[in-house]
Amino acid sequence: MTDQQWQAVDDYFTGLLDTADPVLDAALAANAAAELPDIGVAPNQGRFLQLLARMRGARNILEVGTLGGYSTIWLARALGADGRLISLEVDPKHAEVARQNIARAGLTDQVQIRVGRAVDTLAELAGEGVGPFDFIFIDADKPSNPDYFAWALRLSVPGSVIVVDNVVRNGAVVDADSADPKVRGVRALAEAVAAEPRVRATVLQTVGGKGYDGFLLAEVRH
Ligand code: SAM
Repeated sequence: MTDQQWQAVDDYFTGLLDTADPVLDAALAANAAAELPDIGVAPNQGRFLQLLARMRGARNILEVGTLGGYSTIWLARALGADGRLISLEVDPKHAEVARQNIARAGLTDQVQIRVGRAVDTLAELAGEGVGPFDFIFIDADKPSNPDYFAWALRLSVPGSVIVVDNVVRNGAVVDADSADPKVRGVRALAEAVAAEPRVRATVLQTVGGKGYDGFLLAEVRH
């Protein structure tokens, strides 16, 4: 199958199952206008994350890696009126675009964006006693994935769901000798998850408009 076919299948199902959403479309347009890289989740992946969060009954969501807030909006919409989402972003420009997109989505009261290296802002959250979070989405710099997973565990409770994006990397993840720091970060994450008795986890490979990649899904055990 070609990338074009993957995109066509994504378009077919998204066209059937997701009605047009001017707020999300405007967020993507604003991201493009601000020249943010096109590395956010695809629309069907946003819906997938939202469904997972809703099925979990999430009330406190943590996101690592905001970009322009596209996945943030999908996830925040899974929350009830009393739910909260904190998203961590290192780039002030990305955070500013995200704030505007989130305001346009009417989610400013529910979403907080913290700017800084996530390893630092995660430590801040722990120091402030913020959390625990019942749904955590990790989608930032891949070499730091093992650190983010450790923090996610620390900031979670039994039953929390942890999702990590981009763990397949066009299949490069199986190359044990890879020098790519992103691949190495994903492999170190997988090994940390495998060695962690507090979670049960799996990986789902994905293809589509965003190429060949995959999500790691983990549940913190009761
Ligand atoms: N979750 C977003 C979405 O689907 O719309 C996409 C996030 S994008 C793949 C990754 C983001 O992580 C970028 O905005 C990047 O600036 C941010 N990032 C990279 N390194 C980071 C770090 N050390 N701490 C926090 N954010 C970081």
